[in-house]
Amino acid sequence: MDNDATMAALGEYWRGAGREATSMLMLTLGSGVGSAFVSQGKIMEMNGFSPEVGHMVIDLDGPVCHCGKRGCLETYAGGFGIQRILKETLKSAQEAGGHTDAGDLHPSLTPLDLSRKAEEGNHTAREVLFQAGYALGVGISNVLNVFRVDQVVVGGGIANAWDGLYQHAEETIRHQAFRCNTNGALIHKAALGERAGITGAGLSAVHHAANKKIPSK
Ligand SMILES: [Zn+2]
Repeated sequence: MDNDATMAALGEYWRGAGREATSMLMLTLGSGVGSAFVSQGKIMEMNGFSPEVGHMVIDLDGPVCHCGKRGCLETYAGGFGIQRILKETLKSAQEAGGHTDAGDLHPSLTPLDLSRKAEEGNHTAREVLFQAGYALGVGISNVLNVFRVDQVVVGGGIANAWDGLYQHAEETIRHQAFRCNTNGALIHKAALGERAGITGAGLSAVHHAANKKIPSK
């Protein structure tokens, strides 16, 4: 995981959507899906290896990912993934013929526009966001069944489509994660936006300079 995303995770943990959590998973939905675990104020790694939740396999027969494997989470919930789903859905609608509302959508729509179209009642936009949100929910459920973090925070540009993704992800988590009645309390949209990285970097600098724990929440 790159340093910027790590700093953003720390920023959300200390001052943003994860400020009530002791342990947190941050997913950064950009063109791909970045991830970081924070526990007790520290970024978690194992044997020097950062978690790659974005490359968790959702479907063994799924589309080919940039990493070379098939069906990774980011082939559904990253920016490229959502654009792929949109293009394929529009192509299928065109081939099937008949009257659909797919004609109201352009293949280069941003996730935010897609979310707005879904809110306005466009069924095709809802179907695209369902596929992305469902995969996101499966990925988060798989993580929660291994590490029961207090909160999951979802940031990055694709989080602009949060309204369209959230319901499907949350429903999936309620069905797939063990002992997990989320009632919406577990997963949150990131609160700091682009300020998350600078906030995390600032707090980390204070921590290193003082060589002591980051001030309590
Ligand atoms: Zn991958």
